[in-house]
Amino acid sequence: MRVFIVHAHHEPKSFNGAMTETAVAALAAAGHEVILSDLYRMGFDPVSDRRNFTTVKDATYLKQQAEESFAHQHQGFAPQIATELEKLFWCEALIFQFPLWWFGLPAILKGWVDRVFALGAVYGGGRRYDNGVLAGRRAMCALTTGGAATSYGENGINGEIGSLLYPINHGIFAFTGFTVIEPFVVYGPARLTEMERVSELARYRARLLTLAEAPSLMYRRLEEYDEGGVLRVGRPEARAVSRS
Ligand SMILES: Cc1cc2nc3c(=O)[nH]c(=O)nc-3n(C[C@H](O)[C@H](O)[C@H](O)COP(=O)(O)OP(=O)(O)OC[C@H]3O[C@@H](n4cnc5c(N)ncnc54)[C@H](O)[C@@H]3O)c2cc1C
Repeated sequence: MRVFIVHAHHEPKSFNGAMTETAVAALAAAGHEVILSDLYRMGFDPVSDRRNFTTVKDATYLKQQAEESFAHQHQGFAPQIATELEKLFWCEALIFQFPLWWFGLPAILKGWVDRVFALGAVYGGGRRYDNGVLAGRRAMCALTTGGAATSYGENGINGEIGSLLYPINHGIFAFTGFTVIEPFVVYGPARLTEMERVSELARYRARLLTLAEAPSLMYRRLEEYDEGGVLRVGRPEARAVSRS
């Protein structure tokens, strides 16, 4: 498999750093090809504005999606964005590696999505969800938390981890067509013993080696919704299906 890891942690010796090191080594040893975008090391600029483009559609009013569509038609993405888009279209599996920050993605990774997942290139013209541009590829969140697993479980104070990750799994991955692999979460690595951390890395290695067949989240098909984006209830086929 061709695997693209987007890594968002500012400390190379962090547990996130260890997870990405583990991933690169394990995948390469198993014969997979791996590309890594280490966003802090690259000095990736997460701010989305005219710097996304070398082309200009309307110099008087910045409408990002209109500029994205124009840039897509005229090879007008800034070099840093064009390179990331190439990596995205090269991969068969995409991994976001990050520490949970304020119940979501660190800004550098959210900014990467804001800038790289451009209209025209990655979605648009009716291309979304199971009809998405990136259909046929798989994507997974690999993350760490500060809080304990129980605080992200049923009745946990922080809310269920699946609900917190919904904007990423559904709003970014599934929306653009990816089959979404169940997230891999290491809860509170700083609270674990050294042996427990080593065993979490082994658990991650095992997951990586089954990327192609690891269980995916269930999403309904586009055709199950009406023109207003509302589920057509009562239809026999209105049931959640896995896209894998
Ligand atoms: C801005 C911000 C917002 C945050 N928001 C949230 C939030 O909403 N929810 C939440 O739960 N938490 C939150 N946190 C906490 C954050 O999610 C955790 O601190 C982070 O996920 C821990 O991962 P890490 O990689 O930084 O761990 P680290 O602290 O870097 O690592 C933990 C331990 O693992 C060790 N380690 C490194 N490599 C290895 C290895 N190869 N083998 C064994 N051990 C190793 C390290 O030395 C360290 O002792 C937030 C933190 C910040 C800064």
